[in-house]
Amino acid sequence: MTDLIINISITIATFLFMEFVAWFTHKYVMHGFLWEIHKDHHQPNHKHTFEKNDLFFIIFALPGVIGIVNGFETLNWPFWVGLGVSLYGIAYFLIHDLFIHRRSKLFRNTKSSYLNALRRAHKIHHKNQKKEDGENFGMLFFPLKYWK
Ligand SMILES: [Zn+2]
Ligand SMILES: [Zn+2]
Repeated sequence: MTDLIINISITIATFLFMEFVAWFTHKYVMHGFLWEIHKDHHQPNHKHTFEKNDLFFIIFALPGVIGIVNGFETLNWPFWVGLGVSLYGIAYFLIHDLFIHRRSKLFRNTKSSYLNALRRAHKIHHKNQKKEDGENFGMLFFPLKYWK
């Protein structure tokens, strides 16, 4: 039982840590030396279903898959870390791609004041189409002023 509590704690801690990783990567890498790949997410060409920016999804998915596949038999810690990374990826995809950017007909609207505030914060991130001077690089955590 205690093992399960520890393992679930590892997954939750990993999930939260991924929000930091996402914020850091978005701010310093995507708006940094890999701006060329992120750029079309800020300056979209609506004729295309996929953006170059979607490459980041694959890059972020890899450690999760590796952890789960590696630890699947023994359920050792890489499994629970991989699970946290993957759950974060799924949450990011549902919230960022489906809900905020409406890439499917699903999950376009919600009464949740948290999710609507989160969307407002990310829309401000997109108001700026440039590499520099961005705001709100995180996803699940955002400044409280949007929560009104
Ligand atoms: Zn950006
Ligand atoms: Zn976006």
